[in-house]
This record gives sequence, structure tokens and C-alpha cells, in this order.
Amino acid sequence: MLDSDSHAGRVALVTGAGRGIGRAIADAHAAAGASVIYLDHDAALVEEAAAAATARGWRAVAVTADVADEASVAEAVRRGTEALGPVTLLVNNAGISPKTGSAGGKAFVWDMQADEWRRVLDVNLTGAFLVTRAVVPQMREARYGRIVSISSVAGRTYCDIVGVHYAATKAALIGFTKHLAGELGPAGITVNAVAPGRIDTPLMRGTSAETNEAVRQATPLQRLGTPEEVAAVCLFLTSDKAGFVTGQVCDVAGGWLMT
Ligand code: NAD
Repeated sequence: MLDSDSHAGRVALVTGAGRGIGRAIADAHAAAGASVIYLDHDAALVEEAAAAATARGWRAVAVTADVADEASVAEAVRRGTEALGPVTLLVNNAGISPKTGSAGGKAFVWDMQADEWRRVLDVNLTGAFLVTRAVVPQMREARYGRIVSISSVAGRTYCDIVGVHYAATKAALIGFTKHLAGELGPAGITVNAVAPGRIDTPLMRGTSAETNEAVRQATPLQRLGTPEEVAAVCLFLTSDKAGFVTGQVCDVAGGWLMT
């Protein structure tokens, strides 16, 4: 449905682009003709990802930043836009899901440390706010923008494989999305969320084989998803063709959750 150069002439910023879903999203945008700022706090990962993109003939630049750090985000956006131009497409993907705790790696509320709670909120929620705030002026100037934030099925219903800190941030990203859709719509900026189910990435490989098998069986499509399947939905939402879609949450979960 999208042309092969559907995103030509656009500049996209993807956070957490060093690996997993974020890297697939960044690659999909670059393959569709966008110039892409690959942002991650892991310098080695993100430089390798952007170098691989450049080697494929795509326009890409790597920037290293912690999305939870205001100064680091401002500097990364400054360097990225200096290299590629003003950002009109943003995917807030960077996220963490710590599984420390006393019970088999799962973080239950009764043994969750306040520092751990704060760090998950800082990265998953405040990070999306800081990066969005940094690029929205460029979108308002262009009177065009697309913002997609990666939520989770865990932000929409109880999910026993994550902690309450993670679930709270993924639910909050849905409120963040709906509010900003209202606030930024008059400026020609759409704001949506994507809620993946179980996707096969390094983040999820820390989970036991039994848990992954239980999720697979509970999923009507009977398998885990791939990063590329999440990227394809993001690519549609950041395209011109999705111009009348805003304030929505799109599940990419193999039918694990149906509402
Ligand atoms: P991942 O751990 O494989 O990749 C996350 C990337 O984000 C890494 O490259 C990491 O270095 C980067 N990152 C982490 N903290 C950062 C920070 N503070 N600043 C900048 N970069 C940072 O994870 P993934 O599975 O690809 O998940 C990507 C997103 O999708 C996350 O928001 C996650 O919550 C969400 N998600 C994943 C799944 C799944 O099953 N994998 C399901 C639902 C939602």
C-alpha cells in the first residue's frame, strides 16, 4: 500500500534504535526514503546500526543520548538535525523492563525499590516527553508531524510477565498520546501509539522458555511477533497516508488482546 519511497524527503528520529524493535523501525524508515537519526544510549550499538544503514545506501546518522536526560536529549536533537535537517517524524521507542526482584526474576511491587520505579518512569515516560518536546517546535514550524510512541499490551491489561512500573508507564503513554493528539492536531501533527504483544527481541530473551511458550499458546496466531511487524505498522502511521489517523492505539499482538 505504501510506495517504496513513501517517506522520501522526511527526517525521522527513532529512539532506542540500537537494536530490537527500534532498529527495525529506524531501518524501515530509512528503506522508505527517510533520512533517519538513530538515537540510543548505547554508543557501540547505535553506531553499528547507523553504519549498517549507511552501507545499504540509506541516509542515517547515529546519536548517543539517554532519553531520560534533558541535556543529553537536547544535544542529540541538535546534532541530528544539524546533520540531516528538521525532524517531522518521531518514534518514541526506547524503553526498559527490569525484572529484578526476589521471585524468579519478576519485579513484584512488594520488593520493588523506589529507585527502580523512578528509573523506569524516567526512561519509558519522561524520555518520551523530553524527546517529543525537543522536536515539536520543528514540526510546528513545518506545520506537519507524525509522532508514534511504543506502548504495550501491558499498558492495556494485566500482563504477568512485567512489573507494575513498566505497566504504569505503558498505560501513561496512551494518555500522553491522546492528549497530544488533541493539543497538536491543529498544527497538522498526528500522534498515535502502537501496543506490541510479545515480540522476539533481546529485551524479551531474558524471560523463561516456559513463559514465552505460555504467551505463544495464549496468542491466536500461535507465535511471537517480529520487530519488522511492529515497524510496518509504525511506518504506516508516520506516512502521509495515515494523515487522518490520530489519538489511536494500534495493537500488534497476534490477537493476544482484543478490545
Ligand atoms: P530492547 O531492549 O531489545 O531494545 C531497547 C533499546 O532501547 C536498546 O537499544 C537500548 O539500548 C535502548 N535504550 C534503553 N534505555 C535507553 C535510554 N535511557 N536512552 C536511550 N536508549 C535507551 O527492547 P525492545 O524489545 O526492542 O523494545 C522496544 C520498545 O518496545 C520498548 O519501549 C518496549 O517496552 C516495547 N515493547 C516491547 C515488547 C517486546 O515483546 N519486545 C512488547 C511490548 C512493548
